Amino acid sequence: MSILINFKICDNSDECEGPKLCPVKALTWDNKKKTLKIDNTKCISCTRCARSCPVGAIHVARTEAEYKKIKKEIDKDPRKISDLFVDKYGAQILDTSTIIKNDKVFKTKITKTNKLIICEFFDPSMAQCLIRSIPIKELFKHIDMLFYKVDVSNMKDLMNIYDVKKIPSLLFFKNEKLIGKIQGFYDIDHKKDLQDKIQKMLKKCI
Ligand code: SF4
Repeated sequence: MSILINFKICDNSDECEGPKLCPVKALTWDNKKKTLKIDNTKCISCTRCARSCPVGAIHVARTEAEYKKIKKEIDKDPRKISDLFVDKYGAQILDTSTIIKNDKVFKTKITKTNKLIICEFFDPSMAQCLIRSIPIKELFKHIDMLFYKVDVSNMKDLMNIYDVKKIPSLLFFKNEKLIGKIQGFYDIDHKKDLQDKIQKMLKKCI
């Protein structure tokens, strides 16, 4: 009984739910080495970790043969994290030219208009930032606003300025001021929660 992780599509982050769910500490987070750690001598193949992974990177093998088969599939897997964009959740390939990557451009964008501006702070190296289970268009239809994706992987100061603790996060600006933010990833099952929070936020903005 063991688990295998496909690190080609896993962002190997301390935000992984697996270690928190594992009842026998077979899957843990090694804070020193900053990596997920597997101890298959402990695994009882309860599948909790595998079911918690939003990108399907954790696999449970109940037999030696299954282990070999899964390992072979992972070894042959040509994908890399950025590929998740395309084949999961029906997301559109992102036009990277529209991504804001420096704080000067960011400041220009939010200061040159009095329209409602919604910014998504994200990090392209994190799986949950790549997965878009709820299309932005659907979230903000009928809203007169400008939407920007802001790659904060090299702009930690910006996260500090707006006190953003989790990514992805949605930040709402009006007249150059931060009106509010919705932090963290919302999967398709929590679409209603996200929409409710957005509606509440928009009531404040418009
Ligand atoms: S399958 Fe269960 S026991 Fe095994 S690592 Fe995952 S959560 Fe832990």
